[in-house]
Amino acid sequence: MTEKLRFRDPDLAKRVAEKIHDVAPKEGVVKICHVCGTHEWTITHFGIRSLLPANVEVIAGPGCPVCIVPASEIDEAVQLALKGVTVTCFGDVLRVPGSKMSLLDAKAEGTDVRVVYSVSDAVRLAAKEPNREFAFFAVGFETTAPSTAVEIQGKPPKNLSFLVSHRIIPPAMKLLAEMEDLNLNGFIAPGHVSTIIGLKSYEIFPQKYGMPTVVAGFEPLDVLFGIYMILKQLSEGNPRLENEYKRAVSWEGNTKAQELMQKVFSVVDGNWRGLGTISSSKYVLNAEHAVYDAHLKHDVKVEHGADIQHGCKCHLVIIGKIKPTQCPLFLKACTPQKPVGACMVSVEGTCRIWAREAAAESAS
Ligand code: SF4
Repeated sequence: MTEKLRFRDPDLAKRVAEKIHDVAPKEGVVKICHVCGTHEWTITHFGIRSLLPANVEVIAGPGCPVCIVPASEIDEAVQLALKGVTVTCFGDVLRVPGSKMSLLDAKAEGTDVRVVYSVSDAVRLAAKEPNREFAFFAVGFETTAPSTAVEIQGKPPKNLSFLVSHRIIPPAMKLLAEMEDLNLNGFIAPGHVSTIIGLKSYEIFPQKYGMPTVVAGFEPLDVLFGIYMILKQLSEGNPRLENEYKRAVSWEGNTKAQELMQKVFSVVDGNWRGLGTISSSKYVLNAEHAVYDAHLKHDVKVEHGADIQHGCKCHLVIIGKIKPTQCPLFLKACTPQKPVGACMVSVEGTCRIWAREAAAESAS
C-alpha cells in the first residue's frame, strides 16, 4: 500500500507535470502512443491528459487483448460450442462479438460455455469429467501466454484441447510506427508484457524508427515519468530505449517464460481485429503439441469473420485515430450493458474505460 501511495503522491505529480511543460516543444504536436489497457485506465481515471500541454497527445493503441481477437476466432470458439465441446474462457471474452454471435449468445442457445479464472481451472474441469470434450480459449498477450504454455507442457487431460489466440505486442507496435498518417513520436511500452519479454524487445523502435520508447509501470506517477522521459529524449534529439519500470522489468525479461513459450508455440502471422494481418504476431501450437490443437481435433477453421459491426469505429479507436467520444454510437447505441464493438466489452477496452469514467463523472 505504501508503495502504491508513493506512486500517487499529488505533490510529486504536480512537479513532474511542471517538468513536462518545461521540456515539451512549444510548437507542433507530439503524439505518444501506449499499447496497454491498464495504462489507458490510469491515464483516463487519474485525468493525466488534463495535466499535459495542449500540444502533447497520448493515444491508446491496440493494448486490450480481448478487443483485438478477430471475429473469425470468436466464430471458431462458437463453432466448438455448437459441436458439443465445452468451451472454457475468461469472463471478458464471453461478450466479444463474433460474426453472427458471441460465446454468450451461444451459451444462451444451450451450449456449454463456462467462465474460468485460470487455465488450471480448465484443466481441473476436464480432469473431473473425462467423458466430456473441453476446449480452453486462450486469449491474451505475452503476459498470459506463459500460463497456457505451462499447462500444455504439463500434459493436460486428453479431453482438453486449446484454441490459441495469443498475440505478440512488438509487431503491432511496428505496424503503428510504420503508419505514416498516424505520425507517432514515441511509445510508452506496456509494463506487464515487458516483465516477460524484457526491455530488449523494443530496441528496434529508437534504432529503426527514431522513436523514444519508455517501458512504464501503471501508477499515475509511472505514466507521468514515462511521458516526461519521452519528451526529454525528443528535446535532446536523442531517441533511445529507457526503463521507468525498473522495479519489475529487466533487460532480458523472464527467460524461463520465454523458453517455455518457445517449446510450446510457433510464431505465425496473425489477424488482429480492426488491424488486419500483422506479420509474426501470433502464437500457435507447434507440431510437437499439435495433439492439443482444438482446430485439428474438432475440425474447426474460420478464415474470415465480420470484425467491425455496422457503425462501430473500433478499428479507428484501437489505433488512437479517434477518441471513443467521436464514435456516433458511444453511450448511445453502444454501452457497457449492450456493447456493439469489442472495445466496449472488456474492462481493458478504450471505449469501456471512457464509458466508465463518464458514468463516474456524471454520478459525482
Ligand atoms: Fe465500437 Fe462502441 Fe466504441 Fe463505437 S463506442 S467504437 S461502437 S465499441
